Amino acid sequence: MKKIQMVDLKSQYQKIKPEIDVAIQEVIDSTAFIKGSAVKNFEKEFADYLGVKHVIACGNGTDALQIALMALGLERGDEVITTSFTFIATAEVIALLGLTPVLVDVEMDTYNISVEAVEKAITSKTKAIIPVHLFGQAANMDDLVVLAKKHQLSLIEDTAQGIGGDYYSNSGQTIKLGTMGDIGTTSFFPSKNLGCYGDGGALFTNNDEIAHKIRIIANHGMETRYYHDLVGVNSRLDSIQAAILRVKLPHLDEYSNARRKAAHYYDQAFLNHPNIKIPYRSKKSKHIFHQYTLLIKDANRDELREYLGIKNIPAMIYYPVPLHLQKAYLNERYVDGDFPVTEYLASNVLSLPMHTELTDIELSYIKEAILAFFK
Ligand SMILES: *Cc1c(COP(=O)(O)O)cnc(C)c1O
Repeated sequence: MKKIQMVDLKSQYQKIKPEIDVAIQEVIDSTAFIKGSAVKNFEKEFADYLGVKHVIACGNGTDALQIALMALGLERGDEVITTSFTFIATAEVIALLGLTPVLVDVEMDTYNISVEAVEKAITSKTKAIIPVHLFGQAANMDDLVVLAKKHQLSLIEDTAQGIGGDYYSNSGQTIKLGTMGDIGTTSFFPSKNLGCYGDGGALFTNNDEIAHKIRIIANHGMETRYYHDLVGVNSRLDSIQAAILRVKLPHLDEYSNARRKAAHYYDQAFLNHPNIKIPYRSKKSKHIFHQYTLLIKDANRDELREYLGIKNIPAMIYYPVPLHLQKAYLNERYVDGDFPVTEYLASNVLSLPMHTELTDIELSYIKEAILAFFK
């Protein structure tokens, strides 16, 4: 058995190598490295896949969030509500723009932003909400859309971990994650469910006006060359990355299914174990398992992780410190104990190897090792 990896990008590449290599070579031969046809074609194909009107590619998932906030015209001091249990990028861009990140607790089952907590945190300064589809599980979009409408707030979906996931809305529709809010954002970081071979990101929206503004902001605030109507940024997806993504996009659903298959194996292995809570499967969405995250109960999570390390099984803690307790974000607003669910999760979650290439032999080895730890 080869060494088990948290994410196995090499085996995935081997399966599509001929197509990928040709796609990269074509871009090099064309020398259209920036804003080449691959970018435009990818944006179109991705928009079709998502069932959304506009896709605007950009430099990375963090930029996508920043550009989204800039396109909504928020002003210094405006408050943006997001979850305390996420990757730092979500809150970072809010702070960077001089806006105020208002962090709230998450739900115990989905690990996603609590709509009740969002509602309690709304003030006259609140302008936007950023839910994150953490680990590939959808946030409660039906209720968030209603809440945002009621208070006239913008809704940005951070879909960096949820790309390709489906949401089953109250109206009976099946909708791709990232397309229910005013703007959706994603990342093509290599280990994401749709990853490129470097940095990349994108924004999606059904709103023509917002799409237009996003395009201008991502391109130095200019519509006509050398005329700058807005303060913008330089954030582009390279043509080479777009060409790679064009090869990988048709595989995304098969990649999601491979992840779900591995998740199903883990589910069966740990179902009803007294010390292990398997990930919740919401009836409202199709979980696409960016991470497969266990909750370790009445046992030492860190000892389990160490034990697995000795058995050459990587396991990661996403995320060990909630955002409200990070040095850069800890302020008079927050104290330890504010968000009990987030804090409990940070101390007790453990993510297992999850990618598209896990074999039954690897899965069985991981299962046996974990069960043996508790014997
Ligand atoms: C990865 C990630 C981002 C940032 O994406 P980058 O492309 O690395 O900038 C933002 N939000 C979440 C939830 C992420 O997982």
